[in-house]
Amino acid sequence: MVENNELRKAGLKVTLPRVKILQMLDSAGHRHMSAEDVYKALMEAGEDVGLATVYRVLTQFEAAGLVVRHNFDGGHAVFELADSGHHDHMVCVDSGEVIEFYDPDIEKLQREIVKRHGFELVDHNLVLYVRKKS
Ligand SMILES: [Zn+2]
Repeated sequence: MVENNELRKAGLKVTLPRVKILQMLDSAGHRHMSAEDVYKALMEAGEDVGLATVYRVLTQFEAAGLVVRHNFDGGHAVFELADSGHHDHMVCVDSGEVIEFYDPDIEKLQREIVKRHGFELVDHNLVLYVRKKS
């Protein structure tokens, strides 16, 4: 199983809750989940994993570099798999929905602005807070 290998590579023992939570984050449409989202989704899938365990496992995953935690304004921390490549985020201020995007022009412009200030870009984290147009 892919999940088992991922866990071993990260130096974590393979346990059922870890495998289930990793599978959940890996399944389509389940990116950017809060601990509560993961807990609810596991319950709906009939898996008996407590909320405290979900919190603990997600923290272990973060420490092991398997997942990235985002602390968007006005919401719970959300987690996504670390292997998803660079992208930026939009967060809907009404629904909390997280939308991913990647724009080569923005990436380029950021590097240029940094260069103009005499630096080189090491990393960035761009979050746009948005609302559905009515
Ligand atoms: Zn993302």
